[in-house]
Amino acid sequence: MTVFGGALKNIGMGCASREGKLSQHSNCAPVVDPGGCVACGECALDCPANSIDIGAVAVINDKLCIGCGHCIAACPEGAINVRWDETTTRLQEKMVEHVKGALAGKEGRCIYITFISDVSPACDCYGHTDAPIVPDIGIVASTDPVAIDQASADLVNAEEGFKNTALTAGHEPGGDKFRGVHPKVDWEAQLERAVELGLGKRLYTLERV
Ligand code: SF4
Ligand code: SF4
Repeated sequence: MTVFGGALKNIGMGCASREGKLSQHSNCAPVVDPGGCVACGECALDCPANSIDIGAVAVINDKLCIGCGHCIAACPEGAINVRWDETTTRLQEKMVEHVKGALAGKEGRCIYITFISDVSPACDCYGHTDAPIVPDIGIVASTDPVAIDQASADLVNAEEGFKNTALTAGHEPGGDKFRGVHPKVDWEAQLERAVELGLGKRLYTLERV
């Protein structure tokens, strides 16, 4: 849903209350393509919110859905998809607004450390992992949660992407690895909102140690 997950995501989603997590995901219920669904029921078995009914085809109850995306991965027919409108952007914006709340009163007293290793194509809430799309890069640290995410993304994109992985485009050094896996999501929306909220800057100087 956010494609890129760094410091902002770990704070905004990780430090949010259960209610906050639900609020961030809640307008991201996927949709079933009735023409592709064979009513096998796999999606319902994987749904943690019991929000899928299986009749002639699967039907998702938007009111119960928490937007986790598990059913998308579970469907063997590829019949469940994200609503590719602005919901992924809104999720990122809400996530960053939760960062603002989590850091309130702690300004200037936080340091962010990101391990850029095993860069995998899907979220850690999935029940499986997948092959990394780039080589392991290292560890970055900063007192600016926006700068560290921008630097992390730039370091990933600077690598040559692995072939025969979930990466379908942007393999060349400098190519956008995040859009190379999820072309329809604007992963930079979270950084833009973070700058608007005064959480940090997208400019940085990288010092290698
Ligand atoms: S996104 Fe998650 S909660 Fe919603 S229907 Fe799919 S598996 Fe269930
Ligand atoms: S897993 Fe896919 S094919 Fe099976 S019931 Fe769910 S939507 Fe239909």
